[in-house]
Amino acid sequence: MLNLHDTATGTVRPLLQRQAGKVSIYACGPTVYDLPHLGHGRYVLVWDVLRRYLVAQGLEVTFVSNITDIDDNIITRAAEEGRSEAEVAAEYERRWFEALELLGVERPDGVPHATEYVETMVALIGRLIDDDVAYTTSDGVYLDTSKVADYGLLAGQPLESLRAGARVDEHAEKRSALDFALWKAAKPGEPTWPAPFGEGRPGWHTECVVMALDLLGEGFDLHVGGQDLRFPHHENERAQAVADGRVFAAHWGHSGWVMVGGEKMSKSLKNFTSLTDLLAQSDARAYRLLCLQAHYRAPVEVTPPTIAQAEATLRRLDNLARRFEVGAIAPTPVVLADHNVEPELLANFTAAMDDDLDTPRAFALVMDAVSAANSAADRGDLDRAHLLAQSVVVLFGTLGLGLDGATVEVDATSAALAAERDAARLERDWARADALRAELEARGWIVEDRDGVTTLGR
Ligand SMILES: [Zn+2]
Repeated sequence: MLNLHDTATGTVRPLLQRQAGKVSIYACGPTVYDLPHLGHGRYVLVWDVLRRYLVAQGLEVTFVSNITDIDDNIITRAAEEGRSEAEVAAEYERRWFEALELLGVERPDGVPHATEYVETMVALIGRLIDDDVAYTTSDGVYLDTSKVADYGLLAGQPLESLRAGARVDEHAEKRSALDFALWKAAKPGEPTWPAPFGEGRPGWHTECVVMALDLLGEGFDLHVGGQDLRFPHHENERAQAVADGRVFAAHWGHSGWVMVGGEKMSKSLKNFTSLTDLLAQSDARAYRLLCLQAHYRAPVEVTPPTIAQAEATLRRLDNLARRFEVGAIAPTPVVLADHNVEPELLANFTAAMDDDLDTPRAFALVMDAVSAANSAADRGDLDRAHLLAQSVVVLFGTLGLGLDGATVEVDATSAALAAERDAARLERDWARADALRAELEARGWIVEDRDGVTTLGR
């Protein structure tokens, strides 16, 4: 059984299922007004790995992730570009899913849009006003966080320090700095919806509550997102559900930051880098590999050297797939019970993954199996080598990492250089052999010696 860190309790504990054999997950999705950045890539990869791992165990997973298609940034962008909010949102939603497809991230089972849920949000806000946990001001409706039991649970900090850290641009009519907008009163030139408490549009924190409860029901199993969403977004989602007397998520998961050159990635630090650019410039699998090599709650460093290192590892893995002709498992979800995996490796892999999704350990185990497969083949134990190679492909497939087992076309010049190198080695002319190796590497080949023969891979 998977043990997963729960932000609400601060402990690693079993991910329990409301209904045996089924897991319901809600992940906060993007606000679609710009290209996805590296931070988006990290969290979608982390939760894609979790989702795939649960499917690999034979569980039926329902994964819902929303699209915020109305918000201040979308309105600003639409005004700047003379387009409608709907046009801006549609364009960047399309770009979002293009990036996810390149990353090999499975599409969610449900993709609710905020604008489809405004009526349900209006109903929730109306109930909260009736129950006197929300109040109306001249610029909208706010939740009175002092009336919510356990407010601050996910933030994991005392209310005092949360209050001190709250933004100072706050509206004077707010009763507390921690109170937040459920509804923003209509402003000229902005899209608005009718509501008994005045025309306007919903605040960001309200959409996820109604969408998660509508599509997954009360007490759904797991709510996930990036570390930056823990407070205030997730805190405030939870606060509304509690204030409305509903049972919300049973377990909360948060993934770590992306670091760029030792600094936490954020738009305000101006180290904003588009995921789309990264994917255009590198093997799309490299980012997934980097994320697998880091624990999901730890930061991951994404820089040209770390990406290049990941690409080198991928070449080694693709070579293995080619050598044993085990082919690629495309990153479609793998069910482990359908495959023949070396038993000890499988047991160790599962133990690592069940231990709070310890992908660095799981990854290292599979990399050891890569070496073991190659040495088994070198000593002539082909059955063992094939079993291990096949296991590598299946287990990486479980993590969403497909290996490219397609054979490589070697051009005539490279083949001639390889042959010349073999001749030099036979004559024990090591200097010449090394020079030829360097020349082949400069041509982009990975040069390996198998049974005394130069073998070229990409
Ligand atoms: Zn959310």
